[in-house]
Amino acid sequence: MSAVNDAIVIAMQIDSSKVYEQKKANVLRQFHRIKGAKQISLKPKKNTHFLRKRIKTNTLDLSAFTNVLRVDTDHGLVEAEGLTSFFDLFAATSTVGYMPVVVPEFRAITIGGAIAGLGVEATSFRYGLVHENILEMDIITGTGDILTVTPQKHRDLFLCMPNSLGTLGYVLRAVMRITPIKRFIRVDIRRFRGSGAFIDAIRSSVSSGRQDFLEGLIVGPEEYILAEGSWTDKTEQDDVFDVSVQSWYRYLTDARHQRVVCTAADYMWRWDTDVFWGTRELGFLGSLFDRPVLRRTILKPMLRSDRLLKLHHMLAYHPWFPNVFTGIVRKKEQLIQDVGITIDRCEEFLWWYQNTIGMYPLWACPGTKAHAQQVYPLYQWKGNVLVDFGFYGYKRTPAGVSDHYYTTLVEQHMLALGGIKGLYSTSYFTPHEFWGMHDRDAYMEAEKRYDPNSVFPELYDKVVGDVTK
Ligand SMILES: Cc1cc2nc3c(=O)[nH]c(=O)nc-3n(C[C@H](O)[C@H](O)[C@H](O)COP(=O)(O)OP(=O)(O)OC[C@H]3O[C@@H](n4cnc5c(N)ncnc54)[C@H](O)[C@@H]3O)c2cc1C
Repeated sequence: MSAVNDAIVIAMQIDSSKVYEQKKANVLRQFHRIKGAKQISLKPKKNTHFLRKRIKTNTLDLSAFTNVLRVDTDHGLVEAEGLTSFFDLFAATSTVGYMPVVVPEFRAITIGGAIAGLGVEATSFRYGLVHENILEMDIITGTGDILTVTPQKHRDLFLCMPNSLGTLGYVLRAVMRITPIKRFIRVDIRRFRGSGAFIDAIRSSVSSGRQDFLEGLIVGPEEYILAEGSWTDKTEQDDVFDVSVQSWYRYLTDARHQRVVCTAADYMWRWDTDVFWGTRELGFLGSLFDRPVLRRTILKPMLRSDRLLKLHHMLAYHPWFPNVFTGIVRKKEQLIQDVGITIDRCEEFLWWYQNTIGMYPLWACPGTKAHAQQVYPLYQWKGNVLVDFGFYGYKRTPAGVSDHYYTTLVEQHMLALGGIKGLYSTSYFTPHEFWGMHDRDAYMEAEKRYDPNSVFPELYDKVVGDVTK
């Protein structure tokens, strides 16, 4: 029986590899049709997380590249096309008892997007970011070639891809590490009243490595939560968290809760159902998401980040939707940012944040350097542990200041602390500041080699300022 199954799996792999080869040929034809034009970018996906305002450019349609090609448990890897979502990657690997070692929390984030735009999650304290677990990629470059890159082959491109946001080429296929899973994750919830104790607890959890998942949530200047998760096969005596009943945010912030068990899938998508605490921002509409009966029935189709992000955007910016209804007041600055601060400067950052920004909650996700010997020119920071602080909300600005007043303050302080910032959102660095954080020489060298005619936009032009290509 198992030999028959193996034969079926091999036949399916041969078939999907053949289809992948056809897709490669199609994309090359498409590329050569438009390559005379400059500033080629990715045809926006239905569920993009790139928050930048876009101007129309020549786009490359990679929407066909969404298949998982192979799950190889013997060698601990999954091979997938570049626009495969982590939802599909997790589904394909979990059926055979595995998961990609880092699974970003929004279901529609793709493997290529997480490499090109950096992906971090609660396993990053052990495995680093998504790109640190990539073994091989096929990339369509600005020369119209599809190159297979690894830490040995075309090493410069392999290392420059993370955080390059589609300016050196697009990932058509990637091979990523996977790890065995169990049925459930038990989460111990620890609460602290001060940032010092909280940061110390992160430091000691990271170094002990006693848990499998680690993340924090800062609810206010005196309310810090650390959630340590470990794989388990048992559920008895524990409460089982169910995302269809309650948001993870509500669960964590209820001081009565100290330990909870989730299924592996509910844990993976715990922040997805409510786009972190995004439903909270929807005023009266958001309060409906706290009703278990509504979550299980009419709101069920909305419990996913791709749909909620669209709803958010529509309610926040569409003139037909009055703010009194949603509670999101226009004229507030959208402050959706992820900044990475080395652990030794975190207390300083949190103190400054409390006094200058004061918008809560903040997600706090520690990450380490999984392969210190691999230096990524566009992802560099000093130290061994970094905490990604994610804050996703809207804040009223003082009269007479620029529309990106708070974003700029965050950037300046982050620069002073030697931090880094996710570039999916808005950025306003000067070229000097921007290239002070990233290795310009290595990037320009790679650009010269893989995109000599500048068919893709240059990184600074793409990610800084009010509009993008
Ligand atoms: C509110 C919010 C919160 C977030 N929080 C987190 C978080 O907690 N953890 C986390 O990991 N991430 C987070 N992200 C960021 C997200 O992971 C990145 O934006 C990621 O790049 C999105 O990938 P995507 O597949 O959706 O790509 P898109 O959003 O469609 O594209 C993002 C960029 O990547 C480029 N790109 C896309 N696909 C490819 C490809 N195949 N090859 C090369 N370049 C490509 C695009 O050109 C674009 O520049 C958050 C984003 C938002 C909006």
